[in-house]
Amino acid sequence: MRLSLSFVALALSAFVSADPLQTVLGLQDNTDSAGLSSQNQLLERIEEFSELTSDPVELYKLVDPAGAADLDEPRLLHIWGIQDSEENAEWVTEGDKLRLHQQGIKFTDTTETQDLGKKNALKALAVTEFPKISYGTQVRDVISHLSAHNMQDNLEKLTSFFNRFYKSENGGASSHWVYSQVLDIIAKAPPSTPLSLRKFTHTFPQSSVIARFEPKYPSPNKTAAVIIGAHQDSANYRFPLLPAPGADDDGSGTVTILEAFRALVDRGFTPEYPVEFHWYAAEEGGLLGSRAVAAEYESLGRDVRAMIQFDMTAYTKQSHTPTVAFITTDVNTPLTEYTISLAEEYADYPVQRAKLFPGAGSDHMSWHRAGYPGAFATEGDPFTEFDPYIHTSNDTMYLADGEFSFEHALEFSKVAVAFAVELGGWV
Ligand SMILES: [Zn+2]
Repeated sequence: MRLSLSFVALALSAFVSADPLQTVLGLQDNTDSAGLSSQNQLLERIEEFSELTSDPVELYKLVDPAGAADLDEPRLLHIWGIQDSEENAEWVTEGDKLRLHQQGIKFTDTTETQDLGKKNALKALAVTEFPKISYGTQVRDVISHLSAHNMQDNLEKLTSFFNRFYKSENGGASSHWVYSQVLDIIAKAPPSTPLSLRKFTHTFPQSSVIARFEPKYPSPNKTAAVIIGAHQDSANYRFPLLPAPGADDDGSGTVTILEAFRALVDRGFTPEYPVEFHWYAAEEGGLLGSRAVAAEYESLGRDVRAMIQFDMTAYTKQSHTPTVAFITTDVNTPLTEYTISLAEEYADYPVQRAKLFPGAGSDHMSWHRAGYPGAFATEGDPFTEFDPYIHTSNDTMYLADGEFSFEHALEFSKVAVAFAVELGGWV
């Protein structure tokens, strides 16, 4: 069934800011001159054909017929803010996903993971009581080795990809870059730190990346994983082949947890439980990466002690006090309250609780849906402190007047470190 989009032209579209092609064409990029000229040719084609149609599906077919080959395929979507639950998901087409994005509307693509959570619903899962805070010395030592400068260097590189669209070669290259950064960190680990790294491949070019601190003394009672996540892809909601630096969404979360991972490796972290860092592909495609990973864990019968997602950690609205915010909707409440106590103990910025507006969300929802405890940390209250640049070519780290702050993002690295150590233990 083809989705009629007129009824979903919601107030949400107000969150998609203007993205004129003139700005797009002036965008800087670090690619070589051959790459740059083919990108400029692509932009010229988009500009030319945009005069013929405003429909992203028609435009895609004109600009890149081979890439548009799957746009008529059926997909089962839970459209956020439209259908109140995944049980009411609706069959639309792959191309309708682009139409929804143009309206600023997000969704879960459940096509390949329709049974997510069904197996876990039949069994008792991880504890909902969490340990007392007891690793102050170790957590503060790791935190003292975090570097906002490293985050800035990493984000400069990550945002230099033309976009990180999960279905494109750019998206494949950017995920390989994330993988190589993690590999470099692991290569410098002390010999006593058991680590593993996995490229979790998908049916599209972008891979998810999973790094894992193995427990120092594996125990059958301590197999449940502690997971720290962010999404590495980016999307230009106006049209997917346009530039999407994705500095805040979610380049910031990507480098926030990368820096936490680096500092933990550097300090020789050896947990009791497995502690994993996940950089998800294709969040913008409907949580495709995190749902595939969560579905695999569920089907293998793996338990998860706690999962936290970091999505957007750097934007700081002018004349607002920057905070570490925790979302209270679509999350595990005991885990969220526990993580708030960690942030109050170890972060220096004030902590706040906030709700998500309908139509917003991130990869923790995949774990929540699968029956595992999930929490969500973000840069502010989505209702009053929302980043107006995301999903456009203007989501860069070069915002005026301190609106993009690595000091703000560093507060979230502290929370990630505390989450890893207090929930993973340290032996
Ligand atoms: Zn995001």
